[in-house]
Amino acid sequence: MALLKLENIGKIYDSNDILTIGIRGVNLAFDYNEFVIIEGESGSGKSTLLNVIGANDSYEEGELYFNGSETSHYSESEWEKYRDRNIATIFQDFNIIENLTVLENVELALLRFDDRKERRRIAKELIEKVGLTKQANQKGSRLSGGEKQRTVIARALAKDSPVILADEPTGNLDVKSSKEVAKLLKDVSKDKLVIVVTHNPEYFKQYATRRVRIFDGHVSEDTVVAPPAPKESADAEMAPITRKHAFSNMMYIGTLNYRSRPKFTGMMTLALFVCAITLFIILEVFGQSLIQPYTASLDDVGIAGKVIVSSSENQIGESDLDDLALYSGARYALLDRDLSEFEVPVAKTAGGESERTVICLYDPYSYLPDAGSAVLVLPKSLSYEEQRIKNTFYGAGVGITDIRTVTTVSNNGIRLYLNEADLRENGKRIRAINSGMQLGEVERTVYTFEKNEELESGTVNFINSNFYEATKYTALFRMKADRSYTVGSVSEKRADVGGLVVQFSPQDYDEVFSPAGSVNQACLYFKNDQLASAAVEKLPDGYMGMLSDGRVYLRRAGEIFTMNVVYYFLLICIGVLFAALISVIFGRSVNIFKTDFAVYRTLGIARNISSRSLYVQMCLIFLPTLVLLPLVSFFVTTVRNSAVPLIGVGDYLFIELLMFCMVELVALRFNRVINGQSIRKTLKRGSK
Ligand code: ADP
Ligand code: MG
Repeated sequence: MALLKLENIGKIYDSNDILTIGIRGVNLAFDYNEFVIIEGESGSGKSTLLNVIGANDSYEEGELYFNGSETSHYSESEWEKYRDRNIATIFQDFNIIENLTVLENVELALLRFDDRKERRRIAKELIEKVGLTKQANQKGSRLSGGEKQRTVIARALAKDSPVILADEPTGNLDVKSSKEVAKLLKDVSKDKLVIVVTHNPEYFKQYATRRVRIFDGHVSEDTVVAPPAPKESADAEMAPITRKHAFSNMMYIGTLNYRSRPKFTGMMTLALFVCAITLFIILEVFGQSLIQPYTASLDDVGIAGKVIVSSSENQIGESDLDDLALYSGARYALLDRDLSEFEVPVAKTAGGESERTVICLYDPYSYLPDAGSAVLVLPKSLSYEEQRIKNTFYGAGVGITDIRTVTTVSNNGIRLYLNEADLRENGKRIRAINSGMQLGEVERTVYTFEKNEELESGTVNFINSNFYEATKYTALFRMKADRSYTVGSVSEKRADVGGLVVQFSPQDYDEVFSPAGSVNQACLYFKNDQLASAAVEKLPDGYMGMLSDGRVYLRRAGEIFTMNVVYYFLLICIGVLFAALISVIFGRSVNIFKTDFAVYRTLGIARNISSRSLYVQMCLIFLPTLVLLPLVSFFVTTVRNSAVPLIGVGDYLFIELLMFCMVELVALRFNRVINGQSIRKTLKRGSK
């Protein structure tokens, strides 16, 4: 029984409905220990014949028998097994994997061994056999043509398959290398079937046991030069590949590709980095200012139980408020709503601490300090700021002489609870601590204000104006932006206050800091939100009420809509950008991958293993971003001391998941392209 038998084999190419006969009616039988040369003109069908035998291509007619069994009914996986066990292929253009070393190339054909050391040992032996020991650790791309072909021969030997097919193995080699390769093929042909297609029979004819000539797709001559010797050794039994073994092969190939393609790996990793950071920025920075603040509480803090009342017609005076409080059962009422909760910035000092914001408020149910004192509620993490904050308030001359500190773990910001009487009398001055003042183009922080009885109406004086000459400018207070004050002459410097001191004329001072006689929004305080909202329901006619933490739209609908459109447009643009970036990288690399993966298949590596190895490779490319994102986030939050909080778990997972999907989608697309190709087409490149 012949090892390989072709019975009436025909192969017809159908490209764009043009049928070309590759081979037809081929009847041949080969056995172990035959060294066959196949000759014939270009285009006569030699490569087609080898591709059919090597299962790199299908056949449409006849039957191919291997060891007596039919193959025409083989499924894809049976063909995989067939290639794996029976066939080793050597091509004209080497098909070495250029990015791998000689050793790694050869080891790829030894994946049937589970033990890596064993693979290495056998590979080294074979490399020695083909005389490449010195070049074992050199990359394929660095080898000469002859060395490449010898690597491929070592790789073919590593497969230890009964059939070795060589399609014009010396086609691209010089005379010396050709002779070496021919001799090498002869040396390894013992107990194997070697079929060599060649245009240079002179190198092989001394070794040939048989010469076949193909003409126009069929066998025109078949000469036996010498009868083949009988086979001596038995074929080695091959253990089936276990799941664990297949898994480790998949990991091995994935890691190998990851390592051996630094350019691809680098570009993909970079693309992912950029993508991760961009998504991070969008989510953390834009996402917070664009998407979330549709709504906000009426005050920055919004303590429970507070109702803001407005009068639609008249302004609210002291007596109106008393009536209103009595009517609604409020425990406390504050005439000027602006004073109920406000923020005071504690400026940076030369020492380098950052600016802090202190929320000043009155709450008749939580902390009730005596006149002239206050309670500072400070998050534990900021206790080192205690003294600085206290000093700011002590030094501002706003009537606060005693501040008690309470530290808390909750993060409600830094709060200063004030006394009711202090608020009524000095609320505006407290509020004015460190408020901004604009002088022409320049904005300066103003530390405190003093009344100067001698100044004329409409004139403001600056003391301690060591920052600039303050004459003849217009000063504009943020807190009352609708009125401007004329700056008078420069006064003396005050060292006891850390910054500027502004002096007001009596009229201006009263207007800015005295409790207003009447306003149109006031505050009522209730024990809790339930009572407060009940009170809102039954306010007398002419009044409107709203819970202070009742959420309201901050921006008008049109603005929100525009912003969202912009935001989503930005997201889409970035998505498109990265898709483009990745497809550029993909487009540049896919051809290399195509050939590599076709070579894997000729080596008998199962398609599902090489496919899955791509996912492994992409996973490896993805891994660094897992660490990068929190690192960047940490850097942004701490080092830059910015307002951006550490990335939330949800956002982190969202971004990482997105990236993971992207990466695995790339792998999927790769696989589609790679697997859609037939081995023959992929490896064809000029092998006619
Ligand atoms: P050889 O290797 O002897 O030069 P081939 O086996 O490559 O010849 O080709 C045999 C015939 O099949 C030629 O006529 C060639 O044009 C044709 N052929 C080979 N590959 C294809 C293909 N992919 N599509 C169409 N025709 C093909
Ligand atoms: Mg050919």
